[in-house]
Amino acid sequence: MTTPKTHRWTERRCSECTDLERGRKEAEAERDFSRVSDFNVLIVRHRMAHAEGP
Ligand SMILES: [Zn+2]
Repeated sequence: MTTPKTHRWTERRCSECTDLERGRKEAEAERDFSRVSDFNVLIVRHRMAHAEGP
């Protein structure tokens, strides 16, 4: 029996997702890890907003 992944929100992407992920990549490239974790929070929060939407 397979357990279906319910992380449907991870599949949905909008321009804001792309922006946030790009920002996180840039922060990673600069080794600015406090900014990386900031972006992680923003990305998770933003994607949760996806899940709540229609
Ligand atoms: Zn998004």
